[in-house]
Amino acid sequence: MPKILVVEDEPDMLRGLRDNFEFEHYEVDVARDGETALKKISGTSYDLVILDIMLPKLSGLDVCKRVREQGVRTPIIMLTARSEEIDKVLGLELGADDYVTKPFGVRELLARVKAILRRAEGLAATPPERMTLGSLELDFAAYTAVRDGKQLNLTPKEFEIVKFLWQHRNKTVTRDELLTQVWGYDESISTRTVDNFILKLRQKIEEDPAAPRHIITIHGVGYKLVA
Ligand code: CA
Repeated sequence: MPKILVVEDEPDMLRGLRDNFEFEHYEVDVARDGETALKKISGTSYDLVILDIMLPKLSGLDVCKRVREQGVRTPIIMLTARSEEIDKVLGLELGADDYVTKPFGVRELLARVKAILRRAEGLAATPPERMTLGSLELDFAAYTAVRDGKQLNLTPKEFEIVKFLWQHRNKTVTRDELLTQVWGYDESISTRTVDNFILKLRQKIEEDPAAPRHIITIHGVGYKLVA
């Protein structure tokens, strides 16, 4: 059940929106002023926020701007009442995903919400196709690897290892995780195998395999791809 936050101070409008979204099987949380909205968005993980612009304490424009500054990526649909508000939403690069002009039909808003949630879901489910790391370029879909314009011969397994590390870049990946994710469960493969693969991989992709800069060892734990 998608969880949404509706931020609106007009009681009738708020009730109408809540009822409609609950009827469509959304989990609905509400906020009636900008400050409360800011706290809730920062502290809760919503799938989407519907944010009115004219609010007590802090305007919807400020709320949107601040949560984006905090790095919160939750999709936001702004509710605008006047054309100058639309200009602000479009012109200030606040990071809103869409806007709906009052008065609007609930059907229209529901359609926008569904479209944005579908898009967000699609983005999360799409694995990375390409990786660029300094002079190194990998295309995971075409299985091509190039460093300084020169083709590298990576095996499919090596591609999978880099891809997994890239998906978890800047985080430590344990040998066991690599083993399970890349090889699946196989008794004949040990964590030593993982180490040997990484060793060979470094000889191909690192400029100086003895002093790796891309895939570094986290002693006693595993590896980390630094990007
Ligand atoms: Ca309002």
